[in-house]
Amino acid sequence: MLSVRDAEATILNSVKPLDNQLDVEFVDLLMANNRILATPVTSSFNFPHWDNSAMDGYAVRYADVQQARSDRPVVLEVVEEIPAGYQPQMTLKSGQAARIFTGGIMPNGADTVVMQEKTHRQDNQVLIFIPPQPQEYVRHQGDFYQAGTELLPGGMTLTPAEIAILAAACREQVGVFRRPKVAIFSCGNELVMPEQLLKPGQIVDSNQFALATLMRELEAEVLLLGIVKDDPATLKEIINYAIANADIVISTGGVSVGDYDYIGRTLQSLGGKIHFQSVQMRPGKPLTFATFPTCLYFGLPGNPVSALVTCWRFVKPAIKKLAGLSQGWGGNFLKVRSHSQLQSHGKMETYICGNLHLFNGVYQFHQSPGNQSSGNLINLSQTQALAILPVGQTLVSPGEEVVVLQP
Ligand code: AMP
Ligand code: MG
Repeated sequence: MLSVRDAEATILNSVKPLDNQLDVEFVDLLMANNRILATPVTSSFNFPHWDNSAMDGYAVRYADVQQARSDRPVVLEVVEEIPAGYQPQMTLKSGQAARIFTGGIMPNGADTVVMQEKTHRQDNQVLIFIPPQPQEYVRHQGDFYQAGTELLPGGMTLTPAEIAILAAACREQVGVFRRPKVAIFSCGNELVMPEQLLKPGQIVDSNQFALATLMRELEAEVLLLGIVKDDPATLKEIINYAIANADIVISTGGVSVGDYDYIGRTLQSLGGKIHFQSVQMRPGKPLTFATFPTCLYFGLPGNPVSALVTCWRFVKPAIKKLAGLSQGWGGNFLKVRSHSQLQSHGKMETYICGNLHLFNGVYQFHQSPGNQSSGNLINLSQTQALAILPVGQTLVSPGEEVVVLQP
């Protein structure tokens, strides 16, 4: 059976990222959070734009004040006042200083700022008691960024910091990759919507809610196709529509070996290339992955824990790569200590739901208290981490290290 690692590699190798010319849209900066920058951004501005003061104080010539002493202060004439936003008019000559405030442009002739707290003002004179360091408290033009070089690389996720940087570079809009289109449907004769009255044997299709929410969290555009019966003809019609209208199709259910599991056969009849139909993983073994010329297909197992865990483990990295993210597609894997005793039968890579708690500066994994059945949706609540027991490992004792995936 295919290992989790090989399944992930197969999936990621099949992903063709969106095109950074054709698949781009321009959005206002305030709409750009969590979107992925399509192409590198450069600026014609230096940061800082000009030499300016990092303190409230006095702009001086270092040579004038280097001999200052507490018992023999240097006395300078204050010839100008430079608040932020003001262009200095004077060139400082020897013996002169300018009152300056944080962000104020350094006047010509000055090279150093003496902070206000180390001076004493008397009318139009200032007394300096302690010699500053040369160039102290001056933020020089281009110290933070030089005009014309790369300001932000393409393929990065925009966060409040990058949005501020773009604003500072006078951008009003930014070119980001369009949202990947993800079609989602659920397969099963027993499934109904939450508003429907449950008849014996029926359950609510919770998977479409989990998956649509997760996909929206990933900034995908969701095409929700609802519930489909375990019927080959209907399935064929829906899958045919989905692969023509989405970059990624996710279905749940119908991928096991039961008599009503039609997904594999339908994908084949539509000419899909089936890469695998099971993975050495628990929960999630009957995961199906197929490709069509312009679309990836994930047939996730119907059990709610299996569906979400396989989506976190495999679909999420695929979406990130497809969406144009240049690196970091896999989730966050951390090594932590287990507080709980964790068990597996050792034949599959096993994923156990739980939480992380900080204890004495070290993160500890606490297994969720409920039944770890792949059908137990309730136990998924507030899952912050999935402990991973590799194939061959049957036990992690309390206090031992374990790798967790943060979904
Ligand atoms: P299947 O993968 O179709 O064999 O389904 C496995 C189990 O998951 C069955 O108990 C189904 O009733 C349940 N299941 C299938 N699809 C869903 C769904 N969309 N929402 C919640 N449970 C489901
Ligand atoms: Mg089923």
